[in-house]
Formats: sequence, C-alpha cells, structure tokens
Amino acid sequence: MAMNSSVSSTADPVFDPVALAVGGVQGLTPYQPGKPVAALERELGIRQAIKLASNENPLGPSPLAVEAGRAALATAHVYPDGNGFELKARLAQQHGVAPEQITLGNGSNEVLELIARTWLAPGRAAVFSAHAFAVYPLVTQAVDAEARVAPALPAGHATQPYGHDLAAMQARVDQDVRVVFVANPNNPTGTWVDAAALEAFVAAMPATTLVVVDEAYFEYVETADYPDCTQWLARYPNLIVTRTFSKIQGLAGLRLGYAVSSVAVADLLNRVRQPFNVNAVAQAAGLAALDDSAHVEKSVATNRAGLQQVDAALREMGLRVIPSVGNFITFDTGREAGAVYEALLRDGVITRPVENHGLPGHLRVTVSTREDNDRFLQALKKALA
Ligand code: PMP
Repeated sequence: MAMNSSVSSTADPVFDPVALAVGGVQGLTPYQPGKPVAALERELGIRQAIKLASNENPLGPSPLAVEAGRAALATAHVYPDGNGFELKARLAQQHGVAPEQITLGNGSNEVLELIARTWLAPGRAAVFSAHAFAVYPLVTQAVDAEARVAPALPAGHATQPYGHDLAAMQARVDQDVRVVFVANPNNPTGTWVDAAALEAFVAAMPATTLVVVDEAYFEYVETADYPDCTQWLARYPNLIVTRTFSKIQGLAGLRLGYAVSSVAVADLLNRVRQPFNVNAVAQAAGLAALDDSAHVEKSVATNRAGLQQVDAALREMGLRVIPSVGNFITFDTGREAGAVYEALLRDGVITRPVENHGLPGHLRVTVSTREDNDRFLQALKKALA
C-alpha cells in the first residue's frame, strides 16, 4: 500500500521558529559574557592575555576545594545527591537557618531564573533598578513578564552615583509586582545600600511581592552598615537572599550558587529546578571551600589593596570612577568605550564594556593582583594617550 506522502496542494507555511517562540524570547538579547582568554589569544595570535572581565577571583579556588573536586571525579558515574544534603547542612549551619531554607543552583544565575519561573508570567511584573545586573531583565523577559525599571540615583550623587534608588523602586511596586531584584552590591556599578534603608524597603513590601537581595559579592564588602540579609529571614517570609561560590570562593567554572529563604519559598524553588541541577564536583568543592577561611581572608585582603590601587590610579588619570565595594570598578573613559576596550584587547587585557547596562562610555574592570592591575593601568594609559 502506498504511503501518504502528505504533500499538500497549497504551499505550507515556512517554518519560522522565532514567530513560534513565546513573546518574551522573540526579542531576547543573550547575556554577553566576558571574552575568554583563549578566544582573545586565538583571535589576535597573542599570548599571556589577562581577563579582568567577569569578576573572578585572581587567586583561584582554595586548594582544599580543588582536592575535594578532584576526589569527587572518581565517582562521576554516579548521579550527584539531588538534594545536596551535606552542602545544605553546612550552609544552613553557617547562616543559622534550617537546611530546608536553602535552594542550591547551577550558579546563582540559575536561582534567579528559578525565581522568575516560579513567580513571574505574562500579566505579572518585576521591579529592578537601571544599571542593575543584566540577568534580572533577561529572566523577566524570558517568561514574558513586565520589567519595571526604576531610575537609578543621579550620576552626580555624592557616594552612590548610578546606585539603587530604593524610593523609586518602591514607587513601582503594586499588586502586579511579584518580584523585586536588589543587587547589594550591584554589578556593574559596585554601589550598595545600607542596612537601615534596605530593611525599611523590605518591610514596606506588600505580601504579594517577593524581595530578592542578590549578595553575590557579600564577602568583599567591608563598609559599616552593610547588611547580611540572611539575618532578616525570620522577620520577612517574602525575602530571598542569593549567594554564590563564583566570586570570593573562586569556583565560577563549577557553577554553584544558592538561595536562602523561608521554607515555603524554598519548597517552591525546589519543585521547579532540575533533579540534579548541581553537579557532584561542585558540591564537593563547594563544601571543602567553606572550610578554608584563610583563602577567603586572603582574597578579601588582595581585593582591598587592589580596589585602592585601581581606584586611586584611575582618579589620578582624571577619570570619573564609580566608588565600588565589590571586586570590580566601573569608570567613565570619557570617550567611546568600545575603542578603549578594543585597544586594551590588543594589549592582551580583557575588560567589559557596560553600555548594555545603560552606561555608555564606561568600562568595568575586575580588581586583580597588584601585577595584573598594573598591567591593566599601563595598557589603559596607552589606550587613552
Ligand atoms: N549576581 C550578580 C550581581 C553577579 O554579578 C553575578 C555574576 N556575574 C551573579 C549574580 C551570578 O553569578 P553565578 O551565576 O556565577 O553565581
């Protein structure tokens, strides 16, 4: 019997995956990561390039983490613990919460995405600040929710230029707003909000809105009045605090982050995530890293010295610098930043243009060792000459 070849007489519509995608994804611009060292070396045929583009830890991971991760590879044929029992227990102890209040993620980026998938949808809105971390608009748009962007503090603000304006953010919250994202400190500005202002903001949120405080750079901040929002969880069941192992712990390549929240919130996030979202090497390395407080202290000290070095040098060059409490500095090149970025690349120094964060003319540079900071500063002087 002949098969029906199903050739229709009228022309089939052309397959158009873009038109078929959900509205938000159609217009989505992918996250632009920092250029990898290998890519630059390949493109320019150079060697010994340095990447100061993704706020990674210049000291690398703790040796304890490396050893534990290597050991975990021996049992890589077994699925990881889908509930991350040991790591959650250790994190719970550290934060003084129950393990049921922790949600592990494949980087804190995944946690941010899980939050969006759990509470955002068409007809619902998220609030965040102008110049905020790029993943907030991305995860909001991907689920076709409305992004309400609050204007930031003015460029001329005395201490927090381009920083979060909590009053402006609060003014955009109504019953449609399910999620508010506050990066503290924020990337790429390096600005921060103090404990009193942030707690008043969280307390003022309606019961229909979750507040996400993204503390990716928590360990670097040494400013008085900077809050550890995990300490507020008992008071605010609608508060979610996110942390990462990518920055101070130097484990960005393993992808490990987490949220601390109320048990009810964590339960929902854990329903949405994939069963084995955090791999076994990351779990083992992350657990071991938490035992190496000396590595954390050394990383903080290196960053403290580097922040001072780079901030002072940029100001000496007459450039406008956004004061940062993180492990990166964003500054105004005073000209078209793309050309400066390219000139730095030719000298083997990878930085990050932040025009896509509403900061034209600016570059963000990760604070590194004295030697690498010097190399960046020399290359910048050359580029601006
Ligand atoms: N939040 C902020 C503010 C960040 O800068 C970053 C890293 N760029 C992240 C979250 C995500 O980090 P990860 O997914 O590596 O944990």
